[in-house]
Amino acid sequence: LSGANVIGLDVGTSGCRALAVDDAGGVLAEAQAELPPSVRVGAGCAEQHPQDWWRAVQQVLSALMRQCGGLHPRALCLDATSATVLLCDPQGQPLGPALMYDDSRARTQAADIEPIAPPDSPARGASSSLAKLLWLRARHQPSAPTLALHQADWLSGCLSGCFGISDWNNSLKMGFDPLTQRWPDWLDELGLAPVCLPEVFAPGTDLGPVAPEVAAATGLPADLRILAGTTDSTAAVLATGALQSGDAVTSLGSTLVLKMVAAAPVTAPEFGVYSHRLGADWLLGGASNSGGAVLRQFFEPKVLKALSARIDPTRDSGLDYYPLPGIGERFPINDPRLVPRMQPRPAADVRFLHGLLEGIARIEQTGYQRLRQLGAPAPRRVLTIGGGARNVVWTQIRERLLGVPVEVAAQQQAAYGAARLALRQDQSG
Ligand code: ADP
Repeated sequence: LSGANVIGLDVGTSGCRALAVDDAGGVLAEAQAELPPSVRVGAGCAEQHPQDWWRAVQQVLSALMRQCGGLHPRALCLDATSATVLLCDPQGQPLGPALMYDDSRARTQAADIEPIAPPDSPARGASSSLAKLLWLRARHQPSAPTLALHQADWLSGCLSGCFGISDWNNSLKMGFDPLTQRWPDWLDELGLAPVCLPEVFAPGTDLGPVAPEVAAATGLPADLRILAGTTDSTAAVLATGALQSGDAVTSLGSTLVLKMVAAAPVTAPEFGVYSHRLGADWLLGGASNSGGAVLRQFFEPKVLKALSARIDPTRDSGLDYYPLPGIGERFPINDPRLVPRMQPRPAADVRFLHGLLEGIARIEQTGYQRLRQLGAPAPRRVLTIGGGARNVVWTQIRERLLGVPVEVAAQQQAAYGAARLALRQDQSG
């Protein structure tokens, strides 16, 4: 394997995966490891021990390097779960467990942020990195300089041996302003000291070589460059190859998530819409509560597949559903009291499923219309990922409603997106 290559590393919600990718985008090797589940210490509380992440990361990187003799990656880029936050000392020693992406206990802290942060700041809300940082500061009450880092920041630090660095994407929910590329002044009002905010770089920026002891322990080449990372959802979009303004990515997993590349940022907090900076472009998106979880309430995966095959996607079901797993919606309709509409239920399951698939497709259609109203371009094509993307009939229904090509993305793994970021960085300079 003498061809030039890079490593993309994804530390996701349940596991960790590394891919070696060559300059032509071909996957040379792959390794994965499971992560222990979050510890649920109470309602809305989810913690993990950073050392568990680091163990899994070393394990996958060692496995990757063992797998392929002659692999000599020149750069490594990693993504990890967004808004997972920890405090550590300047040498990278964690002060305690990290608060995970889905931890929402920092409600008091969110209330402290509310009057200070601008109304459209992604740092608002109990799940933001900033609220978690404040909660952790109250828990540990550090008296010496302490670093606030995201999961990806800390792991990049473990790899390079240099802590205190983040990227535009991970820092967005800590309050970093990607437009001006600085921490805004309003953060001063929170009196964060002695907690220090990270120094923030563009995703893919060369941060330096791998630490010698890490290279020795894992088999990574000593001249490997560690690059600034990104968030897992941004990496999943990059994996699809969405690059140009108007490229849209719909994720049909348990929930329905819409993303789009645009030349300018769009922010609409009332709909949960915000924008990540991606090189010269922006990645914006919104998430509906609808999605595959609703289908699961009614049909087993096997039944779903068999019934779908009997649907004629060229015809309208004649049903007007708004499928939701429970009450309340955020995007494309912001109404916490919105009631799911899945009645009347026809006697034939095929027709019922037709109505559900069409209903979710209509939410997708409305979602892109909403983004357009908010200032985004119209989608020129939709790349699609997630469990629902496997359903060919659904894809045809969606294509009919959206009026643009809907393509199943050949690459859907966040680790591949991180590798693409590394390739892009290398090729740009
Ligand atoms: P997540 O990671 O968000 O849990 P996945 O991307 O693994 O989700 O997708 C799982 C979802 O995909 C399930 O909610 C399921 O209903 C849906 N799904 C799986 N197979 C199909 C299918 N053939 N047609 C439609 N939806 C499907």
